[in-house]
Amino acid sequence: MNRIHALRRVLEHKRLDGFVVTNLTHIRYLTNFSGSNALLLVLPNALHLFTDGRYAEQIKTELYPLAGLRTHITRTTWMYVQEQMLVAGTHRLGFDASAMSYAAVRTMRKHCRPTRFVPCRQILEPLMMVKTPEEVSHIKAAADIAAEVYNVVLEIVKPGISEHDLAAELSYQARKRGSEGDAFDIIVASGVRGALPHGRASKKILQRGELVTIDFGCRVQGFHSDMTRTFALGKPNDFDASIYALVLEANTRAIDQARAGLTCKSLDAVARDIISAAGYGEAFEHSLGHGLGLDVHEPPTVSWRFPRVRLPEGAVITIEPGVYVPNRCGVRIEDDVWLRADGCEVLTHSPKELIIV
Ligand code: ZN
Ligand code: ZN
Repeated sequence: MNRIHALRRVLEHKRLDGFVVTNLTHIRYLTNFSGSNALLLVLPNALHLFTDGRYAEQIKTELYPLAGLRTHITRTTWMYVQEQMLVAGTHRLGFDASAMSYAAVRTMRKHCRPTRFVPCRQILEPLMMVKTPEEVSHIKAAADIAAEVYNVVLEIVKPGISEHDLAAELSYQARKRGSEGDAFDIIVASGVRGALPHGRASKKILQRGELVTIDFGCRVQGFHSDMTRTFALGKPNDFDASIYALVLEANTRAIDQARAGLTCKSLDAVARDIISAAGYGEAFEHSLGHGLGLDVHEPPTVSWRFPRVRLPEGAVITIEPGVYVPNRCGVRIEDDVWLRADGCEVLTHSPKELIIV
């Protein structure tokens, strides 16, 4: 499998004998294991996957056929590693410093002396950022489900139903169409609640004349889509319509400009400059977007905070400018795009002109 091969090349480069993978998303990326408890030990000529008895059957069928892969059922992984002498002879093993607790690192060190454990960051992330066409096909499939669900929403939504009911419908319709689950807690924010950028669906009843923002993601083969649309329930007032037009312009211009090689800051600035020039710079309080894949938020973060990080070719990112005006309204329009050297391919196809239902 080239993913393991690519990881081993990174480890060689860092003069590590192996790597301890504890981030479950990373374990899925490398082995396809989708359970909730596992540890993967990557050594030069062996791969050891540890999990507990709940997954004894699952690991017989779902793992990639990887050379040298051995599976182990245990609840006391590091004691087991010591007894089986699985790391005997290794000198430097890396581990993901942001994915292990201090207590877990102590236990690991105690049972594996004299092996040295080296805290590392961003070992798998750069590999995972660059998507293969097959990986993108899963994100596309998830985005296509989301587009169908959005059409259903536009048909059934009406004044009098609650944000909560709408969120439940989104989730149900997505599952019915093959989504493996919600990518995150569905956001439905209507009227003045639209000014909460991450307002989870509440008991609030949708009213005529309000803007409604929905932000939801679907999942296929572990890969996520992430889309936001804002629509109007009945004719919006002029102010709300002008905010919508502004955010739409920021979204479409940023998509026009999006390509690999730009810095995160410069792409963020395409949208931010438009919104700032209209006087709403402070009302666009989050970054323009984020990477998308097996995790719904992954690197790169498309933000002014990263002036030197360049967008890699093959990354899938979101473009999601928003304007949030307290006590009035909020608008966000979010698309997923696959970055190329000369532009990008848009994966989310729901309409973006202001829809009045
Ligand atoms: Zn979103
Ligand atoms: Zn997003």
